[in-house]
Amino acid sequence: MTGSNRASHRISRRAFLIGGASAAAALGAYTLAGWIAEETYQPPSIDSAAPFDLSRRGAPTQPIAILVDPNSADSFGLYLGEVLRSEGLNAFQIENLTLIDTGYLTDFPIVLLPPAQLSPAQAVGLAGYVAQGGALMAMQPDAAIAPIFGIRPAEGTTSAGYLVARDGDRTPLQIHAEAAHYAPDGAAVIAELYHDRSTATGFPAITLFERERGRAVMFAYDLARNIALMRQGNPAAANQDRDGAEGNRANDLFVNWLDLDNIHIPQADRQARLFVKLIENVLRDRLPLPRLWYFPGAAHSLIVLTGDAHAAPASFIEDTLQTAESFGGRATVYYSPPADDGALNQLRRLVARLPLFGWLAPDRDGRPTSEVVKDWRERGHEFGVHPYVEDGVDEGYVRFLRAFHRDGYAPASPTVRTHRILWSGWVETARVQAKRGFRMNVDYYHIGPAFRAADGSWPAGHFIGSGLPMKFVDERGQIIDVYQQPTQLADEHWLATTYRGWAGLDGEQAAQVARELIDRCLDGAYAAVTVQHHMDFEPTDQPDYQHAKRWLTGILDYARERGLPIWTTEHWLAFTDVRHDAALTGLHWDSTSATLSFMFEAPGAAVEPLSILIPATFDGRRLVDIRVDDQAVVGRIDRAHGQEYAWVTAAAESHRFLVNYEVVS
Ligand SMILES: [Zn+2]
Repeated sequence: MTGSNRASHRISRRAFLIGGASAAAALGAYTLAGWIAEETYQPPSIDSAAPFDLSRRGAPTQPIAILVDPNSADSFGLYLGEVLRSEGLNAFQIENLTLIDTGYLTDFPIVLLPPAQLSPAQAVGLAGYVAQGGALMAMQPDAAIAPIFGIRPAEGTTSAGYLVARDGDRTPLQIHAEAAHYAPDGAAVIAELYHDRSTATGFPAITLFERERGRAVMFAYDLARNIALMRQGNPAAANQDRDGAEGNRANDLFVNWLDLDNIHIPQADRQARLFVKLIENVLRDRLPLPRLWYFPGAAHSLIVLTGDAHAAPASFIEDTLQTAESFGGRATVYYSPPADDGALNQLRRLVARLPLFGWLAPDRDGRPTSEVVKDWRERGHEFGVHPYVEDGVDEGYVRFLRAFHRDGYAPASPTVRTHRILWSGWVETARVQAKRGFRMNVDYYHIGPAFRAADGSWPAGHFIGSGLPMKFVDERGQIIDVYQQPTQLADEHWLATTYRGWAGLDGEQAAQVARELIDRCLDGAYAAVTVQHHMDFEPTDQPDYQHAKRWLTGILDYARERGLPIWTTEHWLAFTDVRHDAALTGLHWDSTSATLSFMFEAPGAAVEPLSILIPATFDGRRLVDIRVDDQAVVGRIDRAHGQEYAWVTAAAESHRFLVNYEVVS
């Protein structure tokens, strides 16, 4: 804080005595009330969601069915649904594998089957579905249905392998999940299974088999589990300090797990997109699939701007918020009030909040008042909590939520970053966050010596294989209602001066790293690039502040130039939630009139509109026109995922789409 600010609050001893005498009674009552309020404060305590209801068969209303075995102890079938939502393919329903038969399945153009041991009746039901022209995509299919896929089971499995596509980009992608061995017996190999980056196993990772009208795709590994292992790290490394920087952090779960040569690639997203491409391929003449874009409007990536502040003065924070605003952005503050404030400080703060006697309590630390925080929130910034968890995750979260309440900052916003990004278990921290009312964390944080490449360089990128948010999944395949959003650009990793950063760069060098990362994101590695810019530094001529400022303004300037919105985590959460819950229903393709119809339903908050991507060509026909709620709209033609789409932006709520393609006689 500044000296002048301190002086303006200074009072004379005489004034203090006069005021003090008349204040005593009111103060006593107020202090007691404040103490009671703090002691009786109950932090949120939210029960985890009820297990997904699979007791009854749903009417087939969506084109995609995911079959989940309710008897399996650790199926990642529900998470496969999260993978589809992440890719904007929200037109699916989850059904109970034990309740299916051929007649029921034929109403679905495509059926997805996670690993499952099949009963003879289930195997017959699935075989009948494909024989009648269905499209089945299965992971590690049971030997009983291997012939459907044109494969034969073979000996052995491969652990810690790689996937190499036959066509196109042949960059090896990691497979953490165990892969089963099959020998092709008529199937075409889409991708091969490798032992390491350069040695083939001789077995396929993905195959495609088409016989008459039936189509069957085989994944030798559990794609959903693999994406979870890529994003959330190695469960066997939980609660271990592996990276050479003190403290158990989420990034410790990636040591000897992430192949650093692949950090520039969003490996998990790429495998999910390969999966979606195969879905589109087996439906290539049956149904055009619209999908939701990752970002608001036409943006191809986005900046999430955050900064931790440890009991920092309001003036330090205000400086960063004004910088964000000068680039048209908004920022999130993750704030740590002193958890255990001394009795005198508490008394002083209580006095400061008294309407008539506030001048009695000179502001000595310049920390934000509740009025200042209110102003920041009204300007569109986010003010969230930054809990210390050295004495336990839940203990820390509760203690800091109480301190937030005590200091007049409650309610804390629904996103969070844990102090020192300490992480517990594989998903224990996420469980506590869900219980305490948080919905998104930015705890997966690129920092430390383990991110140094063999050649000594410090690569930037996507250590969780993605720059996009997904909900956490636990060891048993249950979804935790908290999104994981990685932090790729932390000042304390890149900058030489701020907190002695590992990469040792100056402000301009670190800004260049960020610009190159943004370029790669815009070039197909679409990401919400999350920035950590600590707000603990006094705006002065000192190098620490100047380098951090140079770095931040370099990032924000480039983001503005390249069309990336600069959002708070809370805004990004609101958008992510609406997109996650949006539905594309009633998809119908009339091949005679070459018309695709569907409903888009996105209940909820007034956030930036979602973009719906509609294939610009389907089955050799060009898209002719689009009507939304009977109004003609012009879809902006743009490329994504290596193909052309018509982009239509729609506000939340419910809209009816009619899309006409060329009629071929
Ligand atoms: Zn911290």
